[in-house]
Amino acid sequence: MTDSNKVIEILKQIGEQIQMEKDFLTELDNVIGDGDHGINMARGFKEVEKKLADLSGKDIGSILKTVGMTLVSTVGGASGPLYGTAFMRAGSAIGAKTEMDGGDFIIGMEAAISGIEMRGKAHEGEKTMLDALIPALNAIKKSYEENNDFKAALTLGVEAAEKGIEYTKTIIATKGRASYLGERSLGHQDPGATSACLMLKVINSMI
Ligand code: ADP
Ligand code: MG
Ligand code: MG
Repeated sequence: MTDSNKVIEILKQIGEQIQMEKDFLTELDNVIGDGDHGINMARGFKEVEKKLADLSGKDIGSILKTVGMTLVSTVGGASGPLYGTAFMRAGSAIGAKTEMDGGDFIIGMEAAISGIEMRGKAHEGEKTMLDALIPALNAIKKSYEENNDFKAALTLGVEAAEKGIEYTKTIIATKGRASYLGERSLGHQDPGATSACLMLKVINSMI
């Protein structure tokens, strides 16, 4: 079980890890986008961090919805509305709980992914964050259903997300700025898939 305070700690740690990987995420976006993914994510999570102190004692749904709204309103790039929608949807799906288990996480992640697909009109295989998130969710679900061990499931989810990043190198971008490059996007990993995997890694390290 993960309680509200733990969720806040995890979000703080995601923010710190994004600050640490800011230049790397930006470099990746320099190659196939406009070189601001790390900057966008760092800006958004800095604003999230400011809100976290006031969220102590709130339920998990409210915490995640606040994170989502903050990302939508502070990140200019495509990733702001996409991750923002993801966190808002996850918050709505998990609801007013102060403790969550693996099943709640899966319900939240499913809602997050549907939100990204709806907002970005994207599917798996278009070289986006979805290429890390969808295989990760599938691996987590399968493992959790089979063994009822969330930590083990999440570890497999991270591995699937890492494979997803590798997969993005082999495909042409058909959504977002990278799609302007056409075939020239081949061989390069997607920045959003990379930041999505980073978030899952942090969660896995803290569960
Ligand atoms: P921008 O492209 O506006 O500068 P960012 O650089 O912060 O925004 O984010 C780029 C990332 O957003 C991409 O690497 C990709 O993973 C993701 N992305 C872009 N467009 C879409 C979309 N339509 N659906 C899903 N993800 C997308
Ligand atoms: Mg960009
Ligand atoms: Mg931009």
